Amino acid sequence: MGKMEIRKREGLIDRAFETFSIIDYLPDDMTDDELEGIIHVLPGDLKKTMQAFLAPRIRKTSILFFKRMNEWLKGAYRTKQEGGKVFLVPFNFPPETVYLFEGAWPVTSEVLSTLGVLALEGQGERYWDYAMGLGLPDFACSANMIEVGSVLTEADFMPDVIISDCFGSCDINSKTHEFLARCMDIPLLYLEKPVDNSQRGIEQYYRYFFKLVEEMEDFLGQKLDEDRMREVLGLANQASELYWEYWDLHKFRPCPVPNLFSLMTYGTRFTKWGTQDAVDIMRSMVDTCKKRLERGEYPAEQEVARSLWTYTSYYYDMAGLFNWMEENGITHLGDGLDLVFPMAIDLTSRETMLRGVAETARNMPMTRQMGADSMSVQWLDDITFASRELDADCCIYCGHHSCKQTWSGASVVRSELMKREKIPTLILQGDSWIKRMTPISVLQESIDEFVKNVVRTEGTPTRKVG
Ligand code: SF4
Repeated sequence: MGKMEIRKREGLIDRAFETFSIIDYLPDDMTDDELEGIIHVLPGDLKKTMQAFLAPRIRKTSILFFKRMNEWLKGAYRTKQEGGKVFLVPFNFPPETVYLFEGAWPVTSEVLSTLGVLALEGQGERYWDYAMGLGLPDFACSANMIEVGSVLTEADFMPDVIISDCFGSCDINSKTHEFLARCMDIPLLYLEKPVDNSQRGIEQYYRYFFKLVEEMEDFLGQKLDEDRMREVLGLANQASELYWEYWDLHKFRPCPVPNLFSLMTYGTRFTKWGTQDAVDIMRSMVDTCKKRLERGEYPAEQEVARSLWTYTSYYYDMAGLFNWMEENGITHLGDGLDLVFPMAIDLTSRETMLRGVAETARNMPMTRQMGADSMSVQWLDDITFASRELDADCCIYCGHHSCKQTWSGASVVRSELMKREKIPTLILQGDSWIKRMTPISVLQESIDEFVKNVVRTEGTPTRKVG
């Protein structure tokens, strides 16, 4: 079926790469007139994305972010051309592990799906439909299935090896990547997370991680070089330091952090941590937030409510969710994927560095919560910590339809959060990556009613600016 419909170079990565190439032609500082000239020639879905990201308050950081994401895509093609190896990884695998090796490059399935949804006309639906047409179950996770569906068409950029890092945290994610590996005959390396979080379980996890690194060394035919490790992890440490500065900036009322920065944070974390690009993007976000803080800028007359999203957000209409919220005084303090809690890695020796990366992998979003000995307890602890730290008035759970892990704990987390923090949680339906499940107008209506009828805060006056 699909081979008849999707021709060579009509895969998601190839198309997203070509579309994003226009970013290179944009000036770093674009005026409204220049933006207007570009926007009106873009196809509908991309036009909406660009309008959201190029709102004046975030334009400079967005252009930097997209240029560096384009570099990330280019890096994958360049690596292939130069005889290196491209690793397909899930979002919860720290990409710096791949950057530790010369001639190796990570591409991240969930980020690629999201880029497809952002950039392509028709978003990611044709790849999802292709996978469903093969008989894959519709309770698969669209976050990765859109990209995996594209690779399955055989008309897209092909990774050389797959790392599956979801054994123990997300069954559907691990099976999807395993299916892809078996079906396309791509080598599969995996990292299992024991649910035992005692010291014994942690040491076991480290052993699994060290074994994976050995397998990567064998696959690539090279041993890790200590100087390169120090350089990559030094850059990861710099980005982590900026992450915590950025985290603290959320604590002010009104919040000086634009809503869309939530997505840019983990977009960066899941692709470029361990490179100068990640440091540059994080620094640009911190600088923008500091300027907004000094000037008291906020896009609405009042900050009416501060929401923490407990797992994912919706990605098929950036203006309809993130920008609409802040223009109506509803701050998005981040979601579950922002809970990366990065730690400084000790750069003393190969052993300290490897243990540091292993611990980082253990603490990545989803692995940390859904791979815990009690999913709901760890998830609740993290959300409680974040909502208290960031002074949230409410939480919103986006009920991504296929996510059995989070659905199984969502109502427990909601009622316990109410008891602990006295803040309500709105539970929404829909799919983060597929717009035909629930229209954005329905979600806006639900959020609006929840804020007006349930959250009811005093509101913080602001100085309204773009
Ligand atoms: S935990 Fe949910 S959102 Fe995360 S990969 Fe699994 S199904 Fe997808």
